[in-house]
Amino acid sequence: MIRLFLPPEALLSKEVKISGEDARYLGNVLRVRIGEEVMIFDGAGKRYICRVTGVHRKEVVVEKIREERHSAESSLDVTVVQGIPKGEKMEMIIQKTTELGVKRLIPLITERSQIRYTGRLNRWRRIALSASQQSGRETIPVVEEPLHFNEFIDRKERYRGIIFHEGERQKGLKEILRRLGDGELFLLIGPEGGFTDEEVDQSIKKGFITASLGPRILRAETAAITAMGLIQYELGDMG
Ligand code: SAH
Repeated sequence: MIRLFLPPEALLSKEVKISGEDARYLGNVLRVRIGEEVMIFDGAGKRYICRVTGVHRKEVVVEKIREERHSAESSLDVTVVQGIPKGEKMEMIIQKTTELGVKRLIPLITERSQIRYTGRLNRWRRIALSASQQSGRETIPVVEEPLHFNEFIDRKERYRGIIFHEGERQKGLKEILRRLGDGELFLLIGPEGGFTDEEVDQSIKKGFITASLGPRILRAETAAITAMGLIQYELGDMG
């Protein structure tokens, strides 16, 4: 079934008129037909099964049939804080961690991130939206404006978080997760060059626990995606 996000204010009445880019997408790209059912999400936790009642050149009209309770949304509140890697890797991290249920992503400019900010925020947000649509999520992860490491660290008195550090040999993730209480969880993952010792120390001072993802050094994108998967497996809805 086709899945689409519309803002909650567009979904107030039984009949919903869809125009602009969304209408073009439904009509020209997906070629919806009258009578077809589509699933529309409001991005704030509600989803509706709708029937297409009209397909026009610049407008698609649907009628809400019923509201469905959610099922695909993760109960975990995880924020991935990712040292911005080179090239398209941030895109991959956003797409894959969205599929895995991340709630928020903060692109981080660290001492060793070779890429400073590239002005890709809009593109990153579009990727979060389409990955949510594709994976059947009811909410879209928030991709925040990139922050410098210090800005991020200073934003809160204390974090409930894990910093992934290839220098950590002892503390495996499983053991750490068992000891963590409930609440918003921050995952700090470095760029290709990793974190500096000072960044690791500053994080620890703010409550972060260093964790290992095993004896092999993973690429930043592998680390982010694996960490999300393992956390869903241990605490969430995978497995
Ligand atoms: N500086 C490193 C590579 C950093 S890998 C080097 O080349 O030697 C990029 C990021 O992935 C790291 O900052 C860390 O957050 C995470 N990471 C990679 N492998 C890891 C491992 N085995 N354990 C924990 N974190 C890891």
